Amino acid sequence: MTTIANNLQQVHHRIAQACAHAGRDPATVTLLAVSKTFGPEAVLDAAHAGQTAFGENYLQEAVEKMAALRQLGAPALQWHCIGPVQSNKTRLVAEHFDWLHTLDRLKIAERLSAQRPAHLAPLQVCLQVNVDAGPTKAGVPPQDALALAKSVAALPRLCLRGVMSIPEPAADYALQLPLHQRARAVFDQIRSSGLPGLEHFDTLSLGMTADIDAAVAAGSTMVRVGTGIFGGRVKPAP
Ligand SMILES: *Cc1c(COP(=O)(O)O)cnc(C)c1O
Repeated sequence: MTTIANNLQQVHHRIAQACAHAGRDPATVTLLAVSKTFGPEAVLDAAHAGQTAFGENYLQEAVEKMAALRQLGAPALQWHCIGPVQSNKTRLVAEHFDWLHTLDRLKIAERLSAQRPAHLAPLQVCLQVNVDAGPTKAGVPPQDALALAKSVAALPRLCLRGVMSIPEPAADYALQLPLHQRARAVFDQIRSSGLPGLEHFDTLSLGMTADIDAAVAAGSTMVRVGTGIFGGRVKPAP
């Protein structure tokens, strides 16, 4: 077994343990493998071990990796954009990705809906919520999330799937949990709002390698794990 396959098994085990603690069915938590800064061979290794959904932060790197994987004859994979998207880069997301987790502005949403090619399924999107009110951080403030959800749900080529957040790193479970619970509260608020266009609103994208347990306890349905699968990132961000 490769290191990556072995790591994947361990991450699945961690998710199962976190679910056991939280009294949840492990089948309700999807693993997104975050492959940023790792090459196509690493993705292929994970794919051969059964992983199908991959997260990327840097658009140019991601698009090149997708092309390389097609050359390598990789099986069909699902691609999630989990990095910030400037408005002049929306076309790359609309044309190459299945999901976007970091939607936090209507202007970006409108561009993505207009640019989504007709032959592809609607782009699946999560609203990024800024749960710790960091002034420089991305994400819609919790109190503005419902209004944004209403506008996004009405766009024809987007499918609103849920809520995502990236809290500031916190030292331990006791500090991580309340931040994740704030994202969960926004998710519940939107889900129970009765807004039209929420038929597929089922995703709470929470948790990374360091905070899987707290994220699962708060109700995460998709954990985004990089280091735990691929190892430490040595390449600097482009
Ligand atoms: C890099 C990244 C991850 C993965 O982080 P790890 O700590 O390596 O698991 C998850 N989510 C987002 C948004 C990221 O940028």
